[in-house]
Amino acid sequence: MNFFQRPLWHSFICPSCIQRLLSRSLWHTRGKALIKAQDGFRSLFIKSASFRPSLRGSNLTIAQARCSRNNRYSTSPSKKPLRIAVIGSGPAGFYTAYRLMKKIPDAVVDMYEQFPVPYGLVRFGVAPDHPEVKNCQGKFEEVAESARFNYIGNVRVGYDVELVKMKPHYDAILFSYGASEDRKLGIPGEDLPGVLSARAFVGWYNGLPQFQDLTPELEAGDQAVIIGQGNVALDVARILLTPVDELRKTDITEQALEFLSRSKARSVKLVGRRGPLQAAFTVKEVRELMNIPSVAFESIDTSLFPHDTNKLPRVQKRIAQVLNKGSASPLSSSPKSWGLSFLLAPKSMNTSTDSKRISSVDFTNQAFALNTDPFSKTASVVPTGEITTIPASLAFRSVGYKSAALPGLSDIGAPFDAKLGIILNDPYGRVMTPSGGPGNLAARHIPGLYCAGWVKRGPTGVIASTMDDAFISADIIARDWEQRVPFLNVEKGQNTSTGLGWDGVKGSLIGSGVRPLDWNDWKKIDAAEKERGRMIGKEREKFGTVAEMLNVLDR
Ligand SMILES: Cc1cc2nc3c(=O)[nH]c(=O)nc-3n(C[C@H](O)[C@H](O)[C@H](O)COP(=O)(O)OP(=O)(O)OC[C@H]3O[C@@H](n4cnc5c(N)ncnc54)[C@H](O)[C@@H]3O)c2cc1C
Repeated sequence: MNFFQRPLWHSFICPSCIQRLLSRSLWHTRGKALIKAQDGFRSLFIKSASFRPSLRGSNLTIAQARCSRNNRYSTSPSKKPLRIAVIGSGPAGFYTAYRLMKKIPDAVVDMYEQFPVPYGLVRFGVAPDHPEVKNCQGKFEEVAESARFNYIGNVRVGYDVELVKMKPHYDAILFSYGASEDRKLGIPGEDLPGVLSARAFVGWYNGLPQFQDLTPELEAGDQAVIIGQGNVALDVARILLTPVDELRKTDITEQALEFLSRSKARSVKLVGRRGPLQAAFTVKEVRELMNIPSVAFESIDTSLFPHDTNKLPRVQKRIAQVLNKGSASPLSSSPKSWGLSFLLAPKSMNTSTDSKRISSVDFTNQAFALNTDPFSKTASVVPTGEITTIPASLAFRSVGYKSAALPGLSDIGAPFDAKLGIILNDPYGRVMTPSGGPGNLAARHIPGLYCAGWVKRGPTGVIASTMDDAFISADIIARDWEQRVPFLNVEKGQNTSTGLGWDGVKGSLIGSGVRPLDWNDWKKIDAAEKERGRMIGKEREKFGTVAEMLNVLDR
């Protein structure tokens, strides 16, 4: 059975749920609140029946929302096949493409990727010692092998090709280009030598071309401080603490192995603004750190947990258990250790008098607010006015990724919210006008524009949740196509799209230096990386520069 023949994941939702969720007016909530509300929506969506809100013109009209089963649409409104450009080849792009090609049997997908190599953060983010997480690549490969799928690698949309030049050749554009920037702390000293963003460090050890010249100063001293307590922060800590011989078996770059083998970092501290029950890490990642041989865990203040941890919700109870149990390696005899420091908000990064590089980080102490339950997930904190200083020979900021607007987005009418770091959309992935949203009946979908993944929901969630989210986007595109709502290039009811897709776009590549790649080109690079890996006993040795990747094609 191939990927396209497997049973579909079905989603069900009833009109009362739609009404209740939409009336929350998600649009005007901010940051995490928006994401949380969308998460709530999504989980209900997943539990309930196939949602088919009707559109009047391109306006969302809740009153017309109705439930019915819908799976495959074999005819298109214009009798032309749907031609869609997918921007980004990460999980969001691939899962949307898969679902859409399954639902619309004649849909043709052109997937644009800025790098010669596909898979986004699956290749450049997921930790090398988590190879099982990368199994989704097998599924993506099946999608890419369809005759209705074209991979256009090494073409950076908005830079190598303008969005306005793409638009006439497609019925729809899906933005699934992820989050390529990081959030900053906004404190003095965060750009000092010896301070790295976790995104840069992760990209560096995973072979991301833009960070191959990073040269992290791992020999500068034995104290590393990581600001942030999400899973990315824990990945960074694990890579710093895992014996290099363990990492050799993974696809971490040889360059990173060489640096890590000389590292003097012996103690890694991960610092968070709130307590252990509010932290963003998950228990699996904490347990992995506890299980690294010869690495001790510095025990934490037990008053941060309730007397009876059995009364905590399941997830927090497990976290409390793992943290209270600690590691098998005793602190007194272990060469390396790690610890979690809580209730500290970063204030400044400092140098010592005789050096220009980082030597310590100052934090403002925090305490749980009087009106808050310190053991609840949402507990809030207030500054106490006291300062704690932690010595640091190396510091990482790990407070989140951030999406940026693609150049030319506004030229095709797509609004980007720089504060939220997302393309404005309804919870299904339709790109919406800034003036409206799901709670506003005047909300207007910009015909033919859709989004999925981190640029849709913000930089949060794992591959599985990105897949759920991509399926929601694909379902709504398929539904809109079936319902004959306007897509791109519809004028006076006529679809004027050339339908040429990439064949129409390639002539307008900016500059002559751009060399677009197809899937076979990537397979050649893939084979060459695997061969390099085989020669040194690992699964793959990635090329660290685009030039090296392209050289493979000229051999
Ligand atoms: C450090 C780290 C570790 C993680 N570890 C795990 C894990 O262990 N397990 C797990 O389930 N999840 C993990 N995740 C989460 C997972 O990687 C994301 O949920 C998922 O990759 C998001 O998918 P996406 O497609 O939205 O974005 P991305 O994966 O970022 O894909 C976006 C793609 O768009 C491309 N692109 C960007 N701009 C352009 C442009 N202008 N033109 C063309 N292409 C462009 C990018 O190159 C990229 O290929 C991790 C995330 C990070 C950051």
